[in-house]
Amino acid sequence: MQPRVGISSCLLGRRVRYDGGHRKAAALLRWRVRWVPVCPELEVGMGVPREPVRLVGARMVSRSGVDWTARMRAFARRRIAQLRRLNLAGFVLKAGSPSCGIERVKRYGPRGRPSLRGQGLFAAALLEAFPRLPIADEARLADPTARAEFLRRVKAYARRS
Ligand code: SF4
Repeated sequence: MQPRVGISSCLLGRRVRYDGGHRKAAALLRWRVRWVPVCPELEVGMGVPREPVRLVGARMVSRSGVDWTARMRAFARRRIAQLRRLNLAGFVLKAGSPSCGIERVKRYGPRGRPSLRGQGLFAAALLEAFPRLPIADEARLADPTARAEFLRRVKAYARRS
């Protein structure tokens, strides 16, 4: 049976981004896996199109100041509980997103200065819940060697579980 791998929905080509676009990652979609799409911002109720959100300190805030932090954290808990039942063998997340980004996400400090020290809220919850699961972003997997190695880890994980 093909391994199940979670993925940020926009990487599958679904038009779920804040502006109604997608970020289809064609090279990944050749893998023989069963994709499990998740779009935290759509699924938490932000809609499409929507106001972009960003990280301000530990909070997730929209451009007009709506604070989504508590709702996104609660959503992540619920969605991760569902994902646990699917025996995922890996997860590919969208780089740079305040929801899905694994590392180096833009985060604004108290004086409005950005740094690249943030982590997406959904990604942070996922990494905490599945510390051994192969998880990477599509930027890292743009490299063919990294891609092949990640897929090898996914298959090894699937065999173990
Ligand atoms: S990066 Fe994550 S939250 Fe943003 S559109 Fe893609 S799946 Fe949705």
